[in-house]
Amino acid sequence: MPQSPPGDVGGWFRTALDDAPAPSPRRGWAPAGPDLYGLESPDDDLAAALARLRGRRVLVVTGAGMSTGSGLPDYRGRDARPRSPMTFQEFTGQDLSRRRYWARSTVGWPMFLRAWPGPAHHALTELERRLNLTGVVTQNVDRLHQAAGSRTVVDLHGRLDHVVCLGCRTVSSRRVLQTRLLALNPDMVVPSPSPDGPRGVVGHQAPDGDADVEEWARFRYPDCSRCGGLLKPDVVFFGENAHRPTVEAAFALYERADAVLVLGSSLTVMSGLRFARKAVRDEKPVVIAGDGPTRGDDLATHRIHGRLEHILPRWIAMLDES
Ligand SMILES: [Zn+2]
Repeated sequence: MPQSPPGDVGGWFRTALDDAPAPSPRRGWAPAGPDLYGLESPDDDLAAALARLRGRRVLVVTGAGMSTGSGLPDYRGRDARPRSPMTFQEFTGQDLSRRRYWARSTVGWPMFLRAWPGPAHHALTELERRLNLTGVVTQNVDRLHQAAGSRTVVDLHGRLDHVVCLGCRTVSSRRVLQTRLLALNPDMVVPSPSPDGPRGVVGHQAPDGDADVEEWARFRYPDCSRCGGLLKPDVVFFGENAHRPTVEAAFALYERADAVLVLGSSLTVMSGLRFARKAVRDEKPVVIAGDGPTRGDDLATHRIHGRLEHILPRWIAMLDES
């Protein structure tokens, strides 16, 4: 087993759809160059977008840009490295892929537990009190909206703190699985963050550790203790569809809304983009806020550039002033 964490431990939890590789320009949309990051919209633009949202019932769609302030890396942002996500087909079809996934996951889990809601999460819960939100549909699997106190949240891509058996569909706790993983791999060196350490700071991410593949090949992972079936994190992998009841719950929130607010999502994947597209068809205004280009920019009624931990508190201040 590796004596240091196999690298890229920040990436193991971003196997969900939002981590899909950028499609080639010929085949679809891909984020543009780094010059489109770091823009900041002036207050007039922020005020105009806020005016569009006030008095309307608003569905909020969030993505990875929401959680970057919490130490969880955004794999599509300016500093993102190109990488290939593990697909559902690889995970279910290849034992070595599962060994690699669970090895990374075992090392990364303590860091994931330390992630804590950031300023953007807290500001959104405040906006929930000031504006009329129908709910939050998130592409994130980190449960940080719930931790911050958002009341109505649909985890469109599942939740990383749950594990599902592909045989009997039993859902169990990822926290409990960690104990089993460590017991099966007693030589595994897992960083154990100090309970007194600062929350919300995951810390330095190790360099990519693909060279450790021989080590992963020896990693052992358990099967379902009920039926012996394959255990999978209860998140939507690339190549896998979101669960129908979850999608229906998300669209129920959309149907009750008169406007859509997209926060920190590049809308690269269809699961998020379709809310913006449907809103345009239904003539509901779409406000997109975040740093960097999105696939929905040409659909936006208002496009607000900047970091969410700046934009959302500014909106709250504007609501206070008015
Ligand atoms: Zn089972």
